[in-house]
Amino acid sequence: MTTLGTASAAPGEFDTGRLEVGETRDGSSVGLPVAVINGARDGQTLYMQAASDGDELNGVGVIQQVVPQLDPAELTGTILVVGIVNYHAFQIAQHRNPIDDTKMNRAYPGDENGTSSERIAAATFDVARQADIILDLHQGSTSRMINETRVRCGRRHRLHRECLELAKAFGVGYVLDQKGPDGQLARAGPDEGIPTIDPELGGCVGWDDESIRLGVEGVFNVLRYYGFLNGHVDLERQTRAKGFDQYGSPAGGLVSFEKELGERVSPGDTVFDVTDVFGKLKARVTADNSGVFWRSRRLPQVASGEYVCSVGTNVDTY
Ligand SMILES: [Zn+2]
Repeated sequence: MTTLGTASAAPGEFDTGRLEVGETRDGSSVGLPVAVINGARDGQTLYMQAASDGDELNGVGVIQQVVPQLDPAELTGTILVVGIVNYHAFQIAQHRNPIDDTKMNRAYPGDENGTSSERIAAATFDVARQADIILDLHQGSTSRMINETRVRCGRRHRLHRECLELAKAFGVGYVLDQKGPDGQLARAGPDEGIPTIDPELGGCVGWDDESIRLGVEGVFNVLRYYGFLNGHVDLERQTRAKGFDQYGSPAGGLVSFEKELGERVSPGDTVFDVTDVFGKLKARVTADNSGVFWRSRRLPQVASGEYVCSVGTNVDTY
């Protein structure tokens, strides 16, 4: 019998339930929606979570499509799912947990006696650490971003190769291979010896069908590649960036981009223009380095110094 919160499944069974992680301000209990898919045959365990950032719904869309397609009778091993991690932020469609104004993905591995986010991180990490593989489904918040997968353990980590392989198996085409900030699940997982990736499924307000489709495909690729499901996966070469150049606006006004997401950028290429309300050009910003146009703001209006876009740099393939 495998238990996750109130969900319990014997081999060959599926169950959903709630994982209690504390109480709301009115004293009612906070239970994250969870699922256990216990395969008919013994094997490894995969942990998957979504909405660690409360406005990142594509991962929830992926779980909503993946879970009904999983038949425990055909599964080897166990899949543990937390469908919505950042409970409080999800309720109000915000990125950060409003109870402590914290980004959940800076709170791992968490603290069961800590802040609201640390407690949720601790409760979910307790589940994640039982797994052999961790998928932490994110997206570039509500900005515009390519579909990519992040390897956050750092290139000197003992699990770096395994995390890169997992990112390749997920296979969305782009990988950011850069050590992440403290508190990310994609760092805490590898520190426990568990290969972990942070798929970043585009960026949108609400749901993006194409990003969700790629995420669903990525989860099934991983399940087949690691033997949870029958079937063969051909690993495809991934375009990897090892860093970012971030561009801010030199002037206030309205931004128009000269590059599409995923397009190659060479030094000196125009990346974006800033015009005034009457269409007069105020600034033209060119690329410092070569790379891939990776992410941009969604709204055109900017103040001087405000973030505009990112170019993935130091690009190769693997
Ligand atoms: Zn996120």
